[in-house]
Amino acid sequence: MFGKILIANRGEIACRVIRTARKLGVRTVAVYSDADATSLHVEMADEAVHIGASPVGESYLRGDRIVAAALATGAQAIHPGYGFLSENPDFVDQVEAAGLTFIGPSAASIRAMGLKDAAKRLMEEAGVPVVPGYHGEAQEIVLLASKAREIGYPVLIKARAGGGGKGMRRVEHPDEFSEALSGARREAKAAFGDDRVLVEKYVDKPRHIEVQVFGDNFGNAVHLYERDCSAQRRHQKVIEEAPAPGMTEALRKAMTEAAVKAAKAIGYSGAGTVEFIVDASQGLKADRFWFMEMNTRLQVEHPVTEMVTGTDLVEWQLKVASGEKLPKTQSEITLDGHAFEARIYAEDAAKGFLPATGTLHHLKFPDAAPEGATMRIETGVRAGDAISPYYDPMIAKLVVHAKDRPTALKALGAALSRTEIAGSTVNTAFLAALVADPDFSAGDVDTGLIARHQPALTEVAPPSGGTIAAAALAASGAGALPLSNEPWSSLAGYAHFHSVARRSRLKFGEDDIVARVSMRPDGRFQVALDAPYDSTNSHDLRAVPGLALWPGHVTVFEGAVGYTFTVTDPLARADEAAGATGSLRAPMPGLVKLVRAARGDAVTKGQPLLILEAMKMEHTIAAPHDGVIAEIAAEGAQVTDGTVLVRFVEEPSASTAAAN
Ligand code: ADP
Ligand code: ADP
Ligand code: MG
Repeated sequence: MFGKILIANRGEIACRVIRTARKLGVRTVAVYSDADATSLHVEMADEAVHIGASPVGESYLRGDRIVAAALATGAQAIHPGYGFLSENPDFVDQVEAAGLTFIGPSAASIRAMGLKDAAKRLMEEAGVPVVPGYHGEAQEIVLLASKAREIGYPVLIKARAGGGGKGMRRVEHPDEFSEALSGARREAKAAFGDDRVLVEKYVDKPRHIEVQVFGDNFGNAVHLYERDCSAQRRHQKVIEEAPAPGMTEALRKAMTEAAVKAAKAIGYSGAGTVEFIVDASQGLKADRFWFMEMNTRLQVEHPVTEMVTGTDLVEWQLKVASGEKLPKTQSEITLDGHAFEARIYAEDAAKGFLPATGTLHHLKFPDAAPEGATMRIETGVRAGDAISPYYDPMIAKLVVHAKDRPTALKALGAALSRTEIAGSTVNTAFLAALVADPDFSAGDVDTGLIARHQPALTEVAPPSGGTIAAAALAASGAGALPLSNEPWSSLAGYAHFHSVARRSRLKFGEDDIVARVSMRPDGRFQVALDAPYDSTNSHDLRAVPGLALWPGHVTVFEGAVGYTFTVTDPLARADEAAGATGSLRAPMPGLVKLVRAARGDAVTKGQPLLILEAMKMEHTIAAPHDGVIAEIAAEGAQVTDGTVLVRFVEEPSASTAAAN
């Protein structure tokens, strides 16, 4: 076994690899870009090396710097994770030329499977069924169009260098072929620098079922059963599971045999996945599956296989790469129960799954596995970390395992509803809706399911009166209340609410909400909302499970849905007051976090003067008018309600100004 390895990746997969390395007593070296200087994977590794600026082309794709970092730290091997350089054969050559071990297949294996067209030709020769279609060298549009006609519509145009669902177009009718081809080529050129395509039959009621394979350097190859990844949006996986629902013994035998044959055909070593497309229009039939591509790396969804086979695939990778034989023979690998993985992303499901960014001000996963299940949370972020625009917006993978599919699915739903994330738009509500979808629940999946059910899956019910009331209470300036993670029951009986009634202003989407918050003699809070939100005046706030306050916002969690309200800055009132008195007062207790102006400074209207932190939110206090500062609060000062924060020098009168 290696003494020390370098992980050429970031995020959850880097953390995942470090965990197994540690278990095996292998020391770890992380690499990081500017944006990742304080990331979890850097913290977890024994050592870390900075390799460049935030854009991937200047850091995580810089093979030369990564190899140099390995040599400088004395690492003997490099684990590539997934994405980035994991399927780049030139990088493998570079690693080996430096005398290091690449934890993965040979450069030759990666090259053989790197381009979808060549891989298909190779698989055809090896006797693996491939999707009917054209995967030749010639690329003239007239030829491709005539091939499409021969294949029969609908067809799928695919970039031969494609990955991550990019450079793909489904074409229904010959009239649309030429435009779809240009689109696929443009996208492929931009993403992969290669605009060559193949044309395939678009399979009816397609299911994506893939087989995990593993090879060693002694010519052994085994499979670890299948995963179903049919729940997709825009050709990208959303929830994966193992085994495939409704799998028949005949199809499983045919698919796993074909996958092992594919691995053996290229002398495969390490972890790999053979992806098949299955025509499920007449149920799962042993003669209705075809090879799509082979991913020559560890897959994002590998944990579901680990859960049902009781293996650690990263451990296998390290053992095989260090020259050991496969830890298990085929007959020793058995299936147990059912596992799901849900990919939690920072993205806006309702807006076409647009990637989102932001700081994860609040991040809470379930403390314990739901009843009857085991759970794994694979993440590379902590509360307070940012989802930057530079990398994949994945936040975590929620993985559950139970004795059967219904139990595991129920556990997944429960785990999602106990996950709280605020600070960025996330897809947890969408994932929970998918878990509850009747077809998905029944195991009646195909790759079009999400698109067909999209409106229902992405629609979120408006917040209830109780949710709005909870948000209003949190935003009302009930300053010293125990906030954030505390359950609302702790509010009942709280006695130091020092104002009789407070107005709280919120925005939910485009809607303005005004609430009056007051404390009743019994110590409970009463929140009165304007119509049309609510007609009742009293809310049992103990029913609210959790909420998060973050700069300028409050998020209230109702199951897997996080309702985020913008707090209309209560300090706006400070501006109003300042106009009359020539000073800015703190309308609530807080901490002066940052002071950006000094006595004697001439400031202009709207210029930020200081930042006040109150109720865990930061509020920028801006100059209400042009003027000169006579006095300003000190940084670090704790101020109370009404304290003067900024006093202005008497403004020159209109007559003096005219005389000058
Ligand atoms: P999987 O089948 O495991 O979902 P994907 O092909 O979707 O694999 O990609 C896995 C990961 O690799 C994703 O995080 C994706 O963003 C990343 N990825 C895919 N293709 C590329 C690429 N060409 N360059 C860099 N990263 C990529
Ligand atoms: P990528 O490298 O982007 O992962 P794949 O070839 O694996 O590309 O295809 C991605 C997804 O597109 C598949 O998971 C499947 O949902 C869909 N797909 C691919 N080929 C076909 C096909 N011939 N018919 C129907 N759907 C397909
Ligand atoms: Mg694929």
